Amino acid sequence: MPIYKFSQRSYDNLRGVHPDLVAVVVACLYRYTTIDFTVIEGLRDIERQKVLVEQGKSWTMDSKHLPQSDGFGHAVDLAPWVDGGIPWDHWSSFEYVAVAMKFAARHLGVNITWGGDWKVRDGPHFQLSL
Ligand SMILES: [Zn+2]
Repeated sequence: MPIYKFSQRSYDNLRGVHPDLVAVVVACLYRYTTIDFTVIEGLRDIERQKVLVEQGKSWTMDSKHLPQSDGFGHAVDLAPWVDGGIPWDHWSSFEYVAVAMKFAARHLGVNITWGGDWKVRDGPHFQLSL
């Protein structure tokens, strides 16, 4: 089993994310994943969300990336990291990350939803389920 380590950027991007989701991401990287991945984004502020909606990159101001009632963000965007980059056109790489995330979540007893299972697929996106 290969051992992967988070970059400083990945750690920084987990700041402000709900501890349950952070635990799943960390367990996933260290124990479950078969592919390296990076944390693209976690907690988002309202201003950034507005910009993303204007750009058509997000369709809702109700994003789980925004601080929720408990003060934490409830979503993270993860991307596979292959040969020094993100293989955006390689869907199965995103699936590998998702499989490992689901294993880690089940192991820790945390319910998560993968954006890749949505009708409009969002491969990097994971969020706590209600
Ligand atoms: Zn997302």
